Amino acid sequence: MIYMNKIVLNPLKNKPEEYKGNKILERIREYYKEYFIQAIKRKWLEIPEDISHREIGFGYLKKVEDRNLSFDSDKDYLKWVLEKTPFHLYKSLSYMEYPHLFGGAQQKKIFKREIAFDIDVHRVKKCTHRDEGWICKYCLEEAKNQTFILIDEFLIPDFGLSKNDLRIVFSGNRGYHIYIKPQDREIRDTIEHWNRYQRRYLIEYILGKNLSLNYVGSGWKRRILNNIKNKQLRTQLSKYDNWKKLIDKKNEKDKNKIINLINSIKNRLELDEKVMEDDIRLLRVIGSLHGYTGFMVKEIKYNSLEYFNPLNHAIFSKFNKEYYNVKINQKIDSLRIKDRLYTHRSREIPVIMLLFLFGHGVDFEILD
Ligand SMILES: [Zn+2]
Repeated sequence: MIYMNKIVLNPLKNKPEEYKGNKILERIREYYKEYFIQAIKRKWLEIPEDISHREIGFGYLKKVEDRNLSFDSDKDYLKWVLEKTPFHLYKSLSYMEYPHLFGGAQQKKIFKREIAFDIDVHRVKKCTHRDEGWICKYCLEEAKNQTFILIDEFLIPDFGLSKNDLRIVFSGNRGYHIYIKPQDREIRDTIEHWNRYQRRYLIEYILGKNLSLNYVGSGWKRRILNNIKNKQLRTQLSKYDNWKKLIDKKNEKDKNKIINLINSIKNRLELDEKVMEDDIRLLRVIGSLHGYTGFMVKEIKYNSLEYFNPLNHAIFSKFNKEYYNVKINQKIDSLRIKDRLYTHRSREIPVIMLLFLFGHGVDFEILD
């Protein structure tokens, strides 16, 4: 028997129930279900705090196919997750009076919101793949590197947070979500009541958007100086707060060099500004799976982040034990999972690779 992975996306038909008979889709759903049973049992799956005031969204072939869902209790939510086994699962960062209502902050009556950063990186120069949507150890390293920059160069020194005030979550693809969860209830309460303009201010500060060379504040001064390798320039700049005056005295070539250097230090983070700003923004539920990769949306302790490699550690172990005989009908970039390399010539692939190929819309057949 041959099963083909040929799903033609039809906007009117986007729920698995409507694709009955597609053997691959049915099998993928069974694996998601198997995962969720374990994730709930072992308490990996996040139950959004104060569930009755949170909006839930989900999707299968697309990220968010449905939203404005709400549940009265943790139990109802978990029951629904097991029933639906979504490939993408989201919760609102906001707490709202009417999470089920359609519309914006006004209709939903938002009264509080979690503060979270979303680092989402693109392909880097060293990447081993041509496909923009593929992943490899280099872009995954870059995502981790940016997470360290955000935490070690901004959140801890500039905002007086400690690593225990943060929740770090691998996004399941090429990114990380960093939640600010101060242990001090009062501080947490204050920042979770910030409005969108206050959150906007925070993200603009981190992206260096308000940075003026006429007066460089202490945080940015420290950050830029720490990243300048030229000792002479570093010493010069460290003596002044008004860098513009100093830079203007240089010749055109040196001037451009310094400006470019400062800009490159400013532009190291690929942060999704909407995740910080939007009132009704959804973010992936911690402990769910990412429907494009099949990888776990996994929380990582700060002290383990250095050694965390998603290609080894964000894989549900059962998904690497069962194998399928397949025929991959198109050229794809290779992918190394748990130290085994898979290419379009691979005839035997583990379940995790099956989920990855499916999530990336690759044309393949399962040979039983
Ligand atoms: Zn890559």
